[in-house]
Amino acid sequence: MNKKGVLIVISGFSGVGKGTVVKKLIEKYGYSLSVSATTRQPRPGEVDGKDYYFKTVAEFENLIDYNGFIEWAQYVENYYGTPRKFVEDEIEKGNNVILEIEVQGAMRVKEQYPNAVLIFLTAPDAQSLKSRLEGRGTEDAKVIKKRLKRAYEETDDMSHYDYLVVNDDLDKCVDDVNAVIIAEGFKTSNNLEYITKTKNELEEIRKEITL
Ligand code: ADP
Ligand code: 5GP
Repeated sequence: MNKKGVLIVISGFSGVGKGTVVKKLIEKYGYSLSVSATTRQPRPGEVDGKDYYFKTVAEFENLIDYNGFIEWAQYVENYYGTPRKFVEDEIEKGNNVILEIEVQGAMRVKEQYPNAVLIFLTAPDAQSLKSRLEGRGTEDAKVIKKRLKRAYEETDDMSHYDYLVVNDDLDKCVDDVNAVIIAEGFKTSNNLEYITKTKNELEEIRKEITL
C-alpha cells in the first residue's frame, strides 16, 4: 500500500523558538526537514545546505522563474522559499516532511496541499517573545523592530492554522507538536487507501461465504 507523506507546516513569530523546537523534534522523533533557500546573510554557525541554501537575489529569482519552489515569500527584506524537488520526492516516498516557514508561504502550501497540517507556535506572552528575539543576539535593533512589527501583522493569520501550540517549556512543546503530527496520521482523510484495502479484503471473504 503506497501511503503518501503529509506536509507539516510549522510557523510562528520570529524568536518564538521554531528553529529550536524543530531541531529537537527531529532529533527525538526523526522527521524529514525541508531546507529552505534564502537571500538573507548566514548567522554565525549557520551552514549552507543544512540551515538554509544561501542564495544571491539573482540566483533566487532564477529559481522562481524555473518553478523551483512550491512556495516563496518576502519576509522583512529577504526572499525565502521551499525547494520543490525534495518535498515532492519525500511525499511520494510516504515520508512526512516538516516545513518551517512564515505565514504567507504556509497559506500557499495549504492551497496546493489541502492535507497539509498547519501548526502555529506562539510564546506564553509577547514580552517573552521580545526577550527571546533580543536574547538570541543575531539581529541588530532595527531588524528586531521590523520583525516584531511583522509579528503583530502575523496575528491576523493565526486563526487560519489548524493548531496553536505554546512554546513555554521547550520539551513539552516538542512533545505537543509531535502529538499533533501523530493524531494527523490517524485522520480518516489520510487513510483512504486503507479503507479501500479493507473493503477489498472483506469482499473476498464475503464471496467465500455461502449461507
Ligand atoms: P525562531 O526560529 O522562531 O526565530 P529560535 O529557535 O532561534 O527562534 O529561538 C529564539 C531564542 O529563544 C533562542 O535564543 C532560543 O534558545 C530561545 N528559546 C527557544 N525556545 C525557548 C523556550 N521554550 N524557553 C525559553 N527560550 C527559548
Ligand atoms: P529567519 O531569518 O529567522 O531564519 O526566518 C525568517 C522567517 O522566514 C521565519 O518566519 C521562517 O519561518 C521563514 N522561512 C524560512 N524558510 C522559509 C521558506 O522556505 N518559505 C517561507 N515562506 N518562509 C520561510
